[in-house]
Amino acid sequence: MTHRARKRFGQNFLQDTSIIDSILIAATPECNEHWVEIGPGQGALTAPLLRTGVKLDLIELDRDLVAYLTRKFANHDQLAIHSQDALTFDFSQLATTETPLHIIGNLPYNISTPLLFHLMKYTDHIHSMYFMLQKEVVERICAAPGSKRYGRLSIMLQYYCHAEPLFDVPPESFSPQPKVMSAIFKLTPHNQAPVDIANLKHLNQVVTQAFSQRRKTLRNSLKKSFTEAEISALDINPELRAEAISLAEFARLSNQFTLKNP
Ligand code: SAM
Repeated sequence: MTHRARKRFGQNFLQDTSIIDSILIAATPECNEHWVEIGPGQGALTAPLLRTGVKLDLIELDRDLVAYLTRKFANHDQLAIHSQDALTFDFSQLATTETPLHIIGNLPYNISTPLLFHLMKYTDHIHSMYFMLQKEVVERICAAPGSKRYGRLSIMLQYYCHAEPLFDVPPESFSPQPKVMSAIFKLTPHNQAPVDIANLKHLNQVVTQAFSQRRKTLRNSLKKSFTEAEISALDINPELRAEAISLAEFARLSNQFTLKNP
């Protein structure tokens, strides 16, 4: 196919068959499962996914690629192609309680954060997710407290999912080549939220505030919302920086914020 990669759609097509094999080995699709691929492009992951016999839905924004995929995979009755924007796609329409979704994608890097937050609305319908993104973003998503990559993205996504980095993918594996190293990671939605949060908007607000000045202590960065004594009363040391604070501790701060701002 002669398709000119479109930068605005974040198009970097996977070429390396050993990487494609490794992704499929990590994801282990099984024939009774329902998979959704976001941004199938020219079908690098789609073809091996279909060979496993899974039910598969594709979501692709580029209409030229949708036309190409429709021709390429014309005879697959297990396949449905949605010519839509994944950012506004209603994933719940595909799921049933008996068959939760497995989602996969070499994601368009330019919309990675809003797309991941959109997917978090559907975690009740999702069994697992395998994605490729820039390595630096994958490190931020999977980071633990104490790491310099730990921040809002780690905390907000780890509230919904267990996040696990799997392996790196070098630029030479794509055409055109991206400027940065990529990585594959897995998100597994929690069966039960790891902490109780009274108001998720407040968690986001407190976390954003705490990390807005990473190098400052909580006493300073959260000054507008909490006194030093209030932070200590939650059994959190106000002299610590945000990067040392766990999800459980942010949950206490967030729930206290909700009590003060009902
Ligand atoms: N999966 C293919 C591969 O690995 O070769 C293509 C990956 S490419 C990095 C990202 C793909 O996502 C492109 O096909 C692009 O057109 C598509 N895309 C970009 N924005 C999208 C959106 N908002 N919704 C759905 N697909 C999108």
